[in-house]
Amino acid sequence: MVHPSEAIMRELIRDQWDGDSITAAVADAQGVIIAKGKTTVGEDCDPTAHAEINAVRSACKILKTHRLPKGYWLYTTFEPCPLCAAAVIWAGFEGVVYANNPDYRGKEENWSFIKCGEVIKAGNYISEVKLVEDFLIDEIKDYFV
Ligand SMILES: [Zn+2]
Repeated sequence: MVHPSEAIMRELIRDQWDGDSITAAVADAQGVIIAKGKTTVGEDCDPTAHAEINAVRSACKILKTHRLPKGYWLYTTFEPCPLCAAAVIWAGFEGVVYANNPDYRGKEENWSFIKCGEVIKAGNYISEVKLVEDFLIDEIKDYFV
């Protein structure tokens, strides 16, 4: 089983500590990263420019599709918000794996006002998505605190 990959998540966690943004990646069935994303809400004047959305947009442009091939996973260093969790369904991911969760958000707002797992469960008649939560959380949970 390629996913969830500790190597991919460790790379994103390192990117976050170095780059001052939640980071996300789209990986194919073999565990190759197709695209990465950082949050660019402010610089793009785009409230939807979350790390996960940016990674999905880039991957879909590279692959010239709006529906990913089988076996793709979304990796992200923080629990996806409802917007990003819905994008997981629309993009056709096989799975999503995240590291940090809102219990360790420091002074940040709770972006996960609807839990990722709830959104995915509600959308499973469109696309069934596996979910791995709190993956390597000990390596990132102190980021916002
Ligand atoms: Zn989001």
